[in-house]
Amino acid sequence: MRILITGGAGFIGSHVSERLIGEGHDVVVMDNFITGSPANIAHLQGNSHFTFIKADISEWCEVEGTLDAVMNLASPASPVGYLDNPIATMKVGSHGTYNALEVARKKRARFLQASTSEVYGDPLEHPQTETYWGNVNCIGVRSVYDEAKRYAEALTMAYWRTHGVRTRIIRIFNTYGPRMALNDGRVVPNFVAQAVRNEPITVYGDGAATRAFCYVTDLVDGMLRLLWSDEHMPVNVGNPNEMTVFEFAQAVRAAGQPECKSEIIFFQPKAERVSDDPQRRKPDITRARNILGWEPKVSLEEGLRKTIAYFRSVMREG
Ligand code: UDP
Repeated sequence: MRILITGGAGFIGSHVSERLIGEGHDVVVMDNFITGSPANIAHLQGNSHFTFIKADISEWCEVEGTLDAVMNLASPASPVGYLDNPIATMKVGSHGTYNALEVARKKRARFLQASTSEVYGDPLEHPQTETYWGNVNCIGVRSVYDEAKRYAEALTMAYWRTHGVRTRIIRIFNTYGPRMALNDGRVVPNFVAQAVRNEPITVYGDGAATRAFCYVTDLVDGMLRLLWSDEHMPVNVGNPNEMTVFEFAQAVRAAGQPECKSEIIFFQPKAERVSDDPQRRKPDITRARNILGWEPKVSLEEGLRKTIAYFRSVMREG
């Protein structure tokens, strides 16, 4: 198979690329490095199954030759990433998704849209099932990401209905692992970097907000099962092991032992950073279990150990 991965130099995209190449497929990565990085794909450069095109898919998206699948992962995805790049985030979710869908239509390729648990906003239903329509503040600071992804889902469904493109929609919940950007401001890189440096771990507010964290290899497995399935309706992929942010800080500190001496502190970030911060989040993964035969396998302890080891090596290098 030959697969285009937009955003393939990002955290998740680079793991998807690596896995597909490992399975013997040809991968074309397109990325503009707005939040992704050349370092994430450095180990794939030179591989005869790997091609890289530096491009902003909001402006242009074309590939020569046949394609069996298009995976549309291009977008800033961390709150800091999209708060810093609000218009680029909206453009890649709208123009970028349109351009990527057009490629899939012309090449008669299947198409996977990377969507997000953010389509549920600050959810009033818990845990979140795919049938829940969400609670999004359409003019809030997070709306540039939430509404772009909601639009991208709508456009994807329109291509399925209008052109019969074999579309798939994955709603990705919090995911972590090696190659997360050290400075992307999300809770995992923040806490892990703080634990590695023996700095205080900064829990925002009272730390009572909940999340559930999925290790990246589990996520990639679910994503590829969905890509090759026949399911055109959205499917949640994430780990249902819900915990408070404070409990997560304790788990990071424990995984950093014996070296980690960090204390956990309560910290008030800029108001914008936590405005509309979802208070509870946990995926209902019944559909993924039933349709894809998927569920996460990597425990939080094991995933955190691997992530800490990665951050230690990157931080040693400079
Ligand atoms: N958070 C925190 N300390 C940090 C970074 C984030 O307490 O240093 C909190 C944040 O307010 C939110 C949760 O951790 O409640 C997850 O935030 P993240 O930025 O990882 O992404 P989100 O899940 O909101 O998309």
